[in-house]
Amino acid sequence: MSCVKSPESTQSHSREDGRDFNSSAVMQPRMPNPTPRELRNGGRVKTNGRQPTGIYQPNNNFLAPHMQSPEYVQLSTAAAITLGIMQGKMYRCECTRCLNLLLTYPEGCRANCAYCGLARHREAERDYADRNFIRVDWPAVPIDDIVNIVAKDVANTPFHRMCISMITHPKSDRDTVSVLKKWTAQIDPNTLPVSILSNPTTMTRHDVVTLKDLGADIFTVALDAATPEIFDRTRGKGVQSPHKWSKYWEILLSAREVFGAQKFGAHIIVGMGETEHEVLKLVQHIANLGGHSHMFCFFPEQGSLMDHLPATPRDQWRRVQLARYLIDYRDVQIDQMRFDSEGRITGYGLTDSELCDVIDAGIAFRTSGCPGKIQEDISACDRPYGDSPPSNIASFPFHPRKKDLTKIRRQLDIPIVVR
Ligand code: SF4
Repeated sequence: MSCVKSPESTQSHSREDGRDFNSSAVMQPRMPNPTPRELRNGGRVKTNGRQPTGIYQPNNNFLAPHMQSPEYVQLSTAAAITLGIMQGKMYRCECTRCLNLLLTYPEGCRANCAYCGLARHREAERDYADRNFIRVDWPAVPIDDIVNIVAKDVANTPFHRMCISMITHPKSDRDTVSVLKKWTAQIDPNTLPVSILSNPTTMTRHDVVTLKDLGADIFTVALDAATPEIFDRTRGKGVQSPHKWSKYWEILLSAREVFGAQKFGAHIIVGMGETEHEVLKLVQHIANLGGHSHMFCFFPEQGSLMDHLPATPRDQWRRVQLARYLIDYRDVQIDQMRFDSEGRITGYGLTDSELCDVIDAGIAFRTSGCPGKIQEDISACDRPYGDSPPSNIASFPFHPRKKDLTKIRRQLDIPIVVR
């Protein structure tokens, strides 16, 4: 049996325009509108002046209270359900293995990334705690409540890892340290390791060292964009946002030095206008440095500056997802792969039967991220439906079954062919 793409096959399963990738020309964010003065810097929340109490769920229909890190953090809906502080069920998932926490402030994130639901420009229409990161609601909860629930029975916690996500805010470096200290005061980070999803714009190498010294296990940098041009266009000057590619790389290289090989990585969003060759060149570079790439499929979050743009076609996403896995976990080099004139992958650098085995194993199509307790290439961070709806899954938060793999092969245009 073989699972090779037949040479004449050019079928696209994705877009009405027949293209099976998001080109740079198409993926242009719109410009943010000016925010009325009285709504800037969390104006509405501060004027309301409501005192925080208990859990705040997004869209509670009253103005978000003064929830403020380090006392409060937001956490993903999946983590809140797994922790038992919210009711609900997730499609085909029992729970999440990663307790994702997000620092929170009434002023919100001060950056303006074009694809992100938390971006600054959105304060014109919504209070911070009512905005989505991407796709998923993040309720706000006192950090002490979270730590107490996990600490009560660490041995039997469903979580394999905890992660603190920073946002761009003047207090975010200090408060990351406070949240980490609150956690390690009750929970041994050797039992339940901690990752940091950093915000390099406000950080120095000293901050990286401090987090390592306090027990953080893995340090990641959300580059998000695959090239400096796309970075600038989607999260730098192009959208009145403060981030710089060079600063992100400065902190990424500090993390490599301080945390060491296999203990640092980068988040990358696929389908924001880069070619497949460009994004995999970045993946290879990070792998050569000793790190890992954690990938997301671009999703046009409503209210973001890219909400008018197409989601990444599944063809493009699956090709990159598979190739990234081969580079990160199967020692395949980008130089062994083949690409067409538009930078699309046409060969993965493995024999047909080797490629078939990797596809059938299914791990390549699961959510990528920091490892949990199962095995190195299975991420604790499964982020259920954080980059796609359940009806058309991009990153599988569970192990894909036979029917999923059939669909994946169709998207890859690599059907099973009996020899
Ligand atoms: S820094 Fe992070 S949270 Fe803030 S707008 Fe950019 S992607 Fe969103």
